[in-house]
Amino acid sequence: MPELPEVTVISQNIRTLACGKKVLRAAAFRPDVSNAGVEGFGKRLVGRRLLGTDRRGKIILLDFGEVVGVVHLVISGRVRKLPGWQEPDRFNTAVLEFEGGVVLAFAKLWLGYFDLYAPEEVEKHPLISRLGPDPFSAEFTPEYLMKAFARKASIKGLLLDQSVVAGLGNIYVDEVLHAAGVHPTRRANTLSPEEIQRVHTATRDILRRAIEFKGTTFDSYHDAFGESGRFQDQLRVFTRAGKPCYACGEEITKLRVAGRGTYVCPACQTLLR
Ligand SMILES: [Zn+2]
Repeated sequence: MPELPEVTVISQNIRTLACGKKVLRAAAFRPDVSNAGVEGFGKRLVGRRLLGTDRRGKIILLDFGEVVGVVHLVISGRVRKLPGWQEPDRFNTAVLEFEGGVVLAFAKLWLGYFDLYAPEEVEKHPLISRLGPDPFSAEFTPEYLMKAFARKASIKGLLLDQSVVAGLGNIYVDEVLHAAGVHPTRRANTLSPEEIQRVHTATRDILRRAIEFKGTTFDSYHDAFGESGRFQDQLRVFTRAGKPCYACGEEITKLRVAGRGTYVCPACQTLLR
């Protein structure tokens, strides 16, 4: 599933490819691809210019002036540049043609969607309205985390919760907790101020680096130019079960936390100190 870095890269790609360009054609494959329905999708987009792109958590926002595209890729969704117009199909679930021959397919939105909202309605979107602070926002401070972590839930479960922090998923939470030296099963309210500070710093550092490396690709994620991310080579615990920790040499182990496969260095991330 694309997390904050991948969604940032895709949003930047779309801006590079289509910003300032007018939509010539737009079509959705099935009514469930967009809240605008198959007919409304084209009607509301054609003739509008893409003014900018943005991100809320793992959601891409496309600013078409009086209409905003709210794109959620969920697990399998991708954005691909096509060589020319083609009608949407089961794979290319929504297709937009911009001036200058730029055709973008919003592919495999099988659980995702490309909804259209009035600008003033965007913040009321059911997912967006519940998002916690963005890791790069001014609200995301160690003090904020201190309050958010005043709960008995596991630290991993809380970091995955989009209402606590927007944009983190399974890969980056494991990497952040390893960098911070915090075991993922720790109850959030047992973290010391120093540990909270380390979680805060690691979150921003790792996400920033992952964006620089164009995200993490295991199988499906590619940017809109078809390029793979390169951050998978930088991962220090995720998918490294049985391999030595780069920091201490101990074997990385895999467990299940908050219902998700979780990678831990038992020496760097001790449960008790
Ligand atoms: Zn280690």
